[in-house]
Amino acid sequence: MTDINWNDYSLETKAIRAGHKRTHEDEHSIGIFTTSSYVFKNAEEAALRFTGKKAGNIYSRFTNPTVNAFQERLALMEKGERCLAFASGMAAIMAVGMGLLQTGDHIVCSRGVFGNTVLLFQNYFGKFGVTTDFVDLTDTSAWEAAIKPNTRFLFLETPSNPLTEIADIKLLANIAHNNNCLLIVDNCFCTPVLQRPFELGADIVIHSATKYLDGQGRCIGGAVIASNDIIEKYIYPYLRTGGATMSPFNAWVFLSGLETLAIRMKAHCDSAFELAQWLEQQAGVSRVLYPGLASHPQHELAKRQQSHFGGIVSFEVTGGKDHAWRLIDATQMISITANLGDVKTTITHPASTTHGRLTPEVRELAGIKDGLVRVSVGLENCNDIKNDLLRGL
Ligand SMILES: *Cc1c(COP(=O)(O)O)cnc(C)c1O
Repeated sequence: MTDINWNDYSLETKAIRAGHKRTHEDEHSIGIFTTSSYVFKNAEEAALRFTGKKAGNIYSRFTNPTVNAFQERLALMEKGERCLAFASGMAAIMAVGMGLLQTGDHIVCSRGVFGNTVLLFQNYFGKFGVTTDFVDLTDTSAWEAAIKPNTRFLFLETPSNPLTEIADIKLLANIAHNNNCLLIVDNCFCTPVLQRPFELGADIVIHSATKYLDGQGRCIGGAVIASNDIIEKYIYPYLRTGGATMSPFNAWVFLSGLETLAIRMKAHCDSAFELAQWLEQQAGVSRVLYPGLASHPQHELAKRQQSHFGGIVSFEVTGGKDHAWRLIDATQMISITANLGDVKTTITHPASTTHGRLTPEVRELAGIKDGLVRVSVGLENCNDIKNDLLRGL
């Protein structure tokens, strides 16, 4: 099994079979290696492993067979060279910053990224003299204008949350490289099934495994995927020292999550598309934001860049916050929770939750209207999802 060149296989096959190095027990399904350290044959071997002259496990803060399997599988699916797993998506983003940045550096980041990413860059990296400029995801000239001689990387999510705006990864990768910076893409919403940023020129891909990679809302985890060179030089030394390691149990859950990822993403996308089209027909809905709709401003770019349009649908109801809250409270089946990427459909009111800390003016500027509702479309029967939303429409 270890002799197979997985690059010859398609994503669906890698997702099920790659990464598992079968042990002398001939197990069919991979085991969970609950061991904190590893035994060396003798003192010399211990020394060789510590200096990196001989490959092999030392301590589970650095490497663990179950975590290694997850890393290898995800790297192959993303078509990246190396993957390192972390305790959470935020720990993965933290590692990239700690590995790459030094005092005086500068980041350009899209305004619509995950809230904690904004806080990490602004408040924590900011404490150590790293500055960040936030720009409109879709405004290419704003990205270009924000770059300074000390810019280390551009950071973005596409599609954005909750507005589903799409960035042109290829264009921004060129801009980054012409200015001697890296492009980092948080690929959480699309997963490698729908979008492979490395093929478009990105240098680092981030994942919150907590979302679609798990897919059933069970574990927190994250990953950084990049070239061998970036991982060896900047990320692995930080993981070893910083210690935000993924647990073997979580890696095991994510490994089985990956096995069904392709088929789940297809079902999420099909249902989301059906729901988006249906929402466009509903009185009381003034606007539907979904990259698969012809009405979406970057529909053509989404078609080019992604293999499908994703599982997140946002829409605005007439009647602002009161109507949005009424709609959310009228649902019986759908979960009122901020998580996404679950087989269970979830619903949130961004203006009062994920974006609640922003002032009304900043929120308006960011396009988060009071009547906006975000649905992460799950795998229940789509008619049941429609009927649940209909109660409050
Ligand atoms: C959830 C999320 C994160 C953070 O991941 P955690 O696993 O919750 O730490 C980062 N980026 C995006 C786009 C997310 O949705």
